[in-house]
Amino acid sequence: MNFLEERILRDGVVKEGNVLKVDSFLNHQMDVKLFDQMGEEYAKRFAGKPINKILTIEASGIGIASVVALHFGVPVVFAKKSKSINLDGEMYTAEVESFTHKTINHVIVSKKFLGPDDHVLIIDDFLANGCALQGLIQIVQAAGGTVEGIGIAIEKGFQAGGRMIRNLGYQLESLAIVEGMDASTGEIHFREQS
Ligand code: 5GP
Repeated sequence: MNFLEERILRDGVVKEGNVLKVDSFLNHQMDVKLFDQMGEEYAKRFAGKPINKILTIEASGIGIASVVALHFGVPVVFAKKSKSINLDGEMYTAEVESFTHKTINHVIVSKKFLGPDDHVLIIDDFLANGCALQGLIQIVQAAGGTVEGIGIAIEKGFQAGGRMIRNLGYQLESLAIVEGMDASTGEIHFREQS
């Protein structure tokens, strides 16, 4: 069991509706030492890739991506969520359905900060159905950049996103993959990873 799986077992809380709450260390209160360990691990898993930018999505991805970026020595760009679409041509936009809030957001990135020369590592806290990732991939593609890889903290392996993203051919590295969880007992099972 790796450091993140151990932490999830210790401090994660299983909620009804297939929601795993990890707000005591990942996405509300943030354990930046843990993020640092995550950055070290991603640096190993994506070694040799010409990554020159990290892309994430507000809000939960920003803290993780910022610490991870120190291990790559590159800037972080975060996609902003916006209720209105900016049509002035200065932004790349994509539609993202929120798993937790069941709403549709437009996510936007300024054309100033992403372009054809960018080799992007996408970072996010969770992967469930993959809507957030699809939006971010779409934005990199619109910019003419290259997705070099995707680093996720917690993948919910029983939802469709992971399979869909791997089938598209991306190197997807999830530090913990939850295979199943039970809100009544609080049990969490992880996929074995080599
Ligand atoms: P997806 O777009 O892959 O369906 O969902 C990814 C987004 O939904 C993540 O950025 C994360 O914020 C949120 N999310 C999905 N599942 C969970 C969960 O079980 N717990 C928490 N805290 N957030 C989740």
